[in-house]
Amino acid sequence: MERLVDTLGRPVRDLRVSVTDRCNFRCVYCMPKEVFGRDYPFLPRAELLTFEEIERVARAFAGLGVEKIRITGGEPLVRRDVETLVEFLARINGLDLTLTTNGALLGRKAAALKDAGLKRITVSLDSLDDDVFRAMNDVDFPVMRVLEGIDAALAAGLAPVKVNVVVKRGLNEESVLPMARHFHGSGVVLRFIEYMDVGHTNGWRMDDVVPASEIVAAIDAELPLEPVEPAYRGEVANRWRYRDGGGEIGVIASVTQPFCGDCTRARLSADGQVYTCLFAVEGHDLRALLRGGASDEELSTVIAAIWRARADRYSELRSAATADLPKVEMSYIGG
Ligand code: SAM
Repeated sequence: MERLVDTLGRPVRDLRVSVTDRCNFRCVYCMPKEVFGRDYPFLPRAELLTFEEIERVARAFAGLGVEKIRITGGEPLVRRDVETLVEFLARINGLDLTLTTNGALLGRKAAALKDAGLKRITVSLDSLDDDVFRAMNDVDFPVMRVLEGIDAALAAGLAPVKVNVVVKRGLNEESVLPMARHFHGSGVVLRFIEYMDVGHTNGWRMDDVVPASEIVAAIDAELPLEPVEPAYRGEVANRWRYRDGGGEIGVIASVTQPFCGDCTRARLSADGQVYTCLFAVEGHDLRALLRGGASDEELSTVIAAIWRARADRYSELRSAATADLPKVEMSYIGG
């Protein structure tokens, strides 16, 4: 088979699958309450892809070169019986299967997810300071419950557990070092993410971004670090390890060091649209095909054509003007 690459020579390796656009948090930088309030038009249930439909799309992508699938959202653990989807996707041969969650329901779900075939997990946690964390998730959710979720994931054997920390200037930059100290030597891999201009509701400004270099320097001053070579092309995080053997961290510098040239990711929204960039304005509808009786071969041909035409490199072109584009929201397209 001819190798599938886009117009910039990039293969398709990763698929992020959003299973819901709903979330039980209202993180101020992602789903601010003023926008995602009671009246917000979330997707009706009938519009969501079923688990069978998601599996079909996932198999088509796997046939075109996808090796890794991340289940995300919204908050994936609020989708009823999400472990059934994990079971379906775990049947696809040779797939690296993972999930990103805010951890709120993980204490209850970790063992079932592992039993269903999930290999590892990423938990988002922006601060260990309870006041800061409650203000950031904006639903008054305590840090302790997320830490219990992380412990449950570790106990279930969902290894390695990674913890995503989005750093926003003036909000939680003071939380970086305490996080590093807390997880140093624990086996949990911290990943610090530069605050991005996803969607168009979070009021992003360049001044809000704490550059990855600043995060690394702050940690290195107390817990000396050295760089680790990337494990594979397209790895999003720059990896660093503690010189004393206390494990490693990653930094995701998508604003200050864009990595579009190596981006091998496609995204599937909960209602079956494929997006070829996190910062896309428009998607490609697969649900109509799925529900219109398309064969697996037709599905695969359409996805291949979408990928072949792909030219996105938003982060390399980012400017004050692009920040205002009517981009889709991260809670919809999947983080
Ligand atoms: N609800 C799940 C969670 O909290 O992990 C999955 C979806 S969430 C959109 C995925 C990740 O995107 C989270 O780690 C979140 O902090 C991150 N995120 C959301 N908005 C972001 C932004 N503007 N810049 C950088 N990361 C962001």
